[in-house]
Amino acid sequence: MARPALVAALSIVLGALLVRSPSVLTVHLQPEQLGHSVRHIARMELDTLLGWRYWLVLGLLGALELRYPARPGEGLSSLGAAQDLVWLLLAPLFVQTLVRFHEGILVAVHQRLLGGATLHLERALGSGGTVVAAIVVYDFFGWLTHVIRHRVPTLWRFHEVHHSQRSMSPLADKRVHFVEAIVIATIALLPMIMLGLAPRTGGAIAAASLFYTAFIHSNIRTDLGPLRRVLVSPQAHRVHHSVHPEHADTNFGVILLVWDRLFGTLAKAEGEYPTTGVSDAWFPIERSARPASLVHTYARQVLHPFGVTPRGAHRRTAIVRGPGRARGRGLRLAETGAVGGRRRSVG
Ligand SMILES: [Zn+2]
Ligand SMILES: [Zn+2]
Repeated sequence: MARPALVAALSIVLGALLVRSPSVLTVHLQPEQLGHSVRHIARMELDTLLGWRYWLVLGLLGALELRYPARPGEGLSSLGAAQDLVWLLLAPLFVQTLVRFHEGILVAVHQRLLGGATLHLERALGSGGTVVAAIVVYDFFGWLTHVIRHRVPTLWRFHEVHHSQRSMSPLADKRVHFVEAIVIATIALLPMIMLGLAPRTGGAIAAASLFYTAFIHSNIRTDLGPLRRVLVSPQAHRVHHSVHPEHADTNFGVILLVWDRLFGTLAKAEGEYPTTGVSDAWFPIERSARPASLVHTYARQVLHPFGVTPRGAHRRTAIVRGPGRARGRGLRLAETGAVGGRRRSVG
């Protein structure tokens, strides 16, 4: 069996195992102070990830990738997707522990320092209006934290991990460093708590966003036609991940593209499906689909933002620059980026 097919088969088997054995991902420490609402949202997110619908959607996106590939050699059957599956499988190490603990602290801050101030949006707007308003607020803070993670050099080190993906696929959104997840929660969680959403509403929005982020990271050749003016598409988000300097620091949107239009960060790249990756010459890119190698690479990728290299030396100078300030080297990497012994298409 060819290596990509083997990786895809392994991914599906592991996914099926996850659905069959949810306890694999439920090792977590939820502090008592994690408020009911936030705990409920976290639970719904996890349930979505473990539910058969998520894996069915993943399969459908994989089928669309095969039928309408944005670039050959990428997608769910790629080595990059296998690495992202390891990120998903090992999420309990940090996301279900440190990140949830941090969310508990934020809930305590809301209750003790802000007196539990809440807008009670549902009373004012009704459930339909609340969902729309909550999506807009959620998406705006998603956009804002994204801009900040690009513009602040220290935060870029952690966000760089997400951008290191050279093969877009529906699993690419799972490559998110736990420090980055903590930063996002710090900026975006309090405003969401203060909206006073019913736990079910908040959970449904968080769960739906999991599907949408899987979609926009897919290796599918679509810009959503006329909807591209309003919604982030796989084409628009691929441009955000582009190695090309002219695309750097653009298309920060998660669901809505309106924030990029409003604040002048929209890329002029209609119809373009560029190669993706980072300009960091020291970033530990996955080289082999062997499970031990993938886990080893995962550990190196987690440690990399802290300045730890394979030899233990600190090479911060290469990684403190944001994508827009490290021009020139990305193209070289994209052209020579051999993964798993194969030269990758750069078309
Ligand atoms: Zn980004
Ligand atoms: Zn992304």
